[in-house]
Amino acid sequence: MVTIAEQFDVVVLGGGPGGYAAALYGADAGLRVAVVEERRVGGTCLHRGCVPAKELLQTAEVLRTVGGAKDFGVDAGPPSLDLGVSQERKRDVVERITKGLEGSMKSRKVTVVDGRGTVLDAARRSVRVSDGTELRGDALILATGSVPRTIPGFDFDGERVLSSDHLLELEEVPGRVAIIGGGAIGCEFASFLVDAGSEVTVLEALPQILPGVDGDVVRTLARAFKKRGIEVRTGVRVQGLERDGALAVAFEDAKGTDKVEVDRVVVSVGRRPLSEDVGLDGSGVGVDDRGFVEVDEYQRTAVDGVYAVGDLVAGPALAHVAFAEAIVAIKTILGEDVTPVDHARVPWGIYCHPEVAFSGPTEDAARAAGHDVVVSKHRFGANSRAQIIGEVDGLVKIVAERDGPILGVHITGPWATELLAEGYLAVNWEALPEEVGAFIHPHPTLSELFGESALALTGRRLHG
Ligand code: NAD
Repeated sequence: MVTIAEQFDVVVLGGGPGGYAAALYGADAGLRVAVVEERRVGGTCLHRGCVPAKELLQTAEVLRTVGGAKDFGVDAGPPSLDLGVSQERKRDVVERITKGLEGSMKSRKVTVVDGRGTVLDAARRSVRVSDGTELRGDALILATGSVPRTIPGFDFDGERVLSSDHLLELEEVPGRVAIIGGGAIGCEFASFLVDAGSEVTVLEALPQILPGVDGDVVRTLARAFKKRGIEVRTGVRVQGLERDGALAVAFEDAKGTDKVEVDRVVVSVGRRPLSEDVGLDGSGVGVDDRGFVEVDEYQRTAVDGVYAVGDLVAGPALAHVAFAEAIVAIKTILGEDVTPVDHARVPWGIYCHPEVAFSGPTEDAARAAGHDVVVSKHRFGANSRAQIIGEVDGLVKIVAERDGPILGVHITGPWATELLAEGYLAVNWEALPEEVGAFIHPHPTLSELFGESALALTGRRLHG
């Protein structure tokens, strides 16, 4: 039996970054919003992704800092890691952010419905919650997110064959680890684990780790990984997993067949959208053959009044992209003018060491798209602040149109994820190198490297 609870302006299915952003932004615009969430609000990002992963990567940074303290004349002794304490801190951080988010929902009078929701009738924008309640909205936003994907023969057991969800809960540092897939998750975990003391092998199918990222950035990162002892094998075809007794991954690459014996295997070969079991069959909402809900640039599905945002739709699976898509959906619901999200120019931040961040096309992609490209590259070794902090691996690369705007900014190095902010603005404002080059960057800062790279594109250089 279904009880009709209430009619809302907007019903949101899923309380992750896409769903909670739609709720908060919509409520701030005066809409009556309900969010159906089966766990706590925050989604993958807050509970099984960005936030806990970056917290563990911060632990790795503290370890590196203490390990390098002697170079500054500070004798802190050889550092050791108690992962249990770090996990406790991670849980505290996640809890504080979750409570903050729950508080924001409450203060904006968003109704958070505890339970699993499925679409009951898309045309009526109605959702059935596991307790039998039916919620109806003038609009419905689907934001059910994604889960880790695996490959045949590598089913997760949570003990020795791990997804990112499992890895984030590790209480002890494993001895030897194979990471299948050298994308964002693979690189971040490789970085964390090697700092924590594991022996790490990354097995990547494509010719480079971080496929799609600028070649100069990836080569710089790969060199830094090698220096830190991470074994990276690219162009690999993973053949199978021996699970009896010792754990071993068999693979083939240009050198022939090989095998790596490990204590844990991490599978990070991407994520798949959670579009099954949410009542979309026969609903009229289109789902493509990869499971993504089909939407137009305003996040509208094929059913009037039904929208989808976040990892559930094709595009970069990033929390901040979900936020932006949620805002587009709400503004569209409100009938306001809105600029759709340009997936090709969103900011990316990958928190391995050294960090990687970029926005806009790579040099190769810009050339392939027919641009007459000019490039400016500056290494962190030439930057005073980088020398002061002792973090000199990395570069800033600007890809621009000849006599035209900045197209792409690509950074690897210290605090790259923070430094990208002005690069992102330059790309999306279609700034000219001479405009950016004329802006003053405080000295000594890491940000100078971006200013100097832009200045160099005007034909004259300062330091580098
Ligand atoms: P991904 O798509 O970024 O990378 C998967 C990698 O696995 C690719 O390099 C791919 O070539 C490789 N691969 C696929 N099948 C393989 C196989 N059989 N053998 C070997 N390699 C194989 O996916 P991910 O790293 O799992 O991350 C999932 C999603 O989460 C991504 O969309 C990612 O952007 C997002 N994410 C982003 C960040 C960040 O931006 N900081 C961090 C974590 C996750």
